[in-house]
Amino acid sequence: MRDFDGAAPAYVGRTDGPAVFDYLIVGAGFAGSVLAERLAAGLDKRVLLIDRRPHIGGNAYDHHDDAGVLIHRYGPHIFHTNSQPVADYLSRFTKWRPYEHRVLAHVDGQLVPIPINRTTVNRLYGLDLDEAGVAEFLKSRAEPVAEVRTSEDVVVGAVGRELYEKFFRGYTRKQWGLDPSDLDKAVTARVPTRTNDDDRYFGDSFQNMPLHGFTRMFENMLDHPNITIRLGADFRDVVRDVRYRNLIFTGPVDEYFEYRFGKLPYRSLTFRHETVDQEWFQPVAVVNYPGEEVPHTRITEYKHLTGQTNPRTSLTYEYPSAEGDPYYPIPRAENAALYRKYQELADATPNVHFVGRLATYRYYNMDQVVAQALALYTRIAKAEGAVAEG
Ligand code: FAD
Repeated sequence: MRDFDGAAPAYVGRTDGPAVFDYLIVGAGFAGSVLAERLAAGLDKRVLLIDRRPHIGGNAYDHHDDAGVLIHRYGPHIFHTNSQPVADYLSRFTKWRPYEHRVLAHVDGQLVPIPINRTTVNRLYGLDLDEAGVAEFLKSRAEPVAEVRTSEDVVVGAVGRELYEKFFRGYTRKQWGLDPSDLDKAVTARVPTRTNDDDRYFGDSFQNMPLHGFTRMFENMLDHPNITIRLGADFRDVVRDVRYRNLIFTGPVDEYFEYRFGKLPYRSLTFRHETVDQEWFQPVAVVNYPGEEVPHTRITEYKHLTGQTNPRTSLTYEYPSAEGDPYYPIPRAENAALYRKYQELADATPNVHFVGRLATYRYYNMDQVVAQALALYTRIAKAEGAVAEG
């Protein structure tokens, strides 16, 4: 195995060489970087990887701040997966630090586990129920919903109106700028409710953080002589002076087609990063603030993720907003219909592959995007009659 503890490799694999690239890859996040690595190393293709941001890693980019704490510029990214092939693939480029994510919610002046579990119910109501008692409690509170259509229906049907209002209503209104009664049921269908003491946020078999961070992992992935990287480079500008045979586009699909059918709606976020002069700020990496009395949805404290020791600690506050970078596709039926029109155009565009969260207008976790990129690589290798090298 490579030694990942040494100095980080340089960003740029090759700056000279022929001007014709086999692949131009737009976007150096997980989708673009996995494909660049696979095409370069597995199929010996010459790849130009560009990103309009000044760094690789896409939304998973992390860096050391002035206090020396490894922070995530675009909000906390927690790696978890049930896919062993995805974990094995990424393990070629990083060692891991075991980390199980736990989240507390600030409710009624207390910090209680979310997803709701036995501890949450007992603390909020001053009870001492066992598992069966909690199941009975939630059942007695749940309201029958004839047809589950919205996010409100999902939660009220599972835990009742009071817990819905304490944990979900305000959070969802802040996060989406919409009342849960106007949001597709898929949004809160992801949130489990437990009757035992399990307070892990995810149940996946593989839960680890890259030992030296995501950016270092990306640097290792892209350290190949067939890969040239240009940062601060927008597709619209690069496309004028670069010759390439195939295009992989991981940016917004509506932008690629110049918003022909209109803009695909996204919810955005503003991040406020700060360092405070105390060793610890909160007991876990993420505390949610469901109440509408504060404008932020959550606060992240990074040292819980990295295991760093430092007399100071760095935090990120998240403020949802309507304007700004595209982060969360808004899951409503009319938006899905608009995307399908772009998808038809994309499917009919030869020699261009659309992959990743922005190009397919879906919220994907990192592991899902890696799996999507590896699947596309396998299809490309097959189409070329090559055996996809492992
Ligand atoms: P991106 O990482 O967005 O990369 C796309 C890149 O393309 C960007 O860097 C962009 O600058 C570039 N680009 C776009 N258009 C152009 C253009 N025209 N020219 C040049 N470059 C362009 N997933 C998890 O698994 N766990 C988590 O805890 C988690 N937390 C998240 C928290 C937040 C706040 C958000 C928003 C997402 C989170 N995710 C998480 C999801 C994760 O961010 C995505 O799965 C992942 O970033 C998708 O990778 P990607 O390559 O598809 O997109």
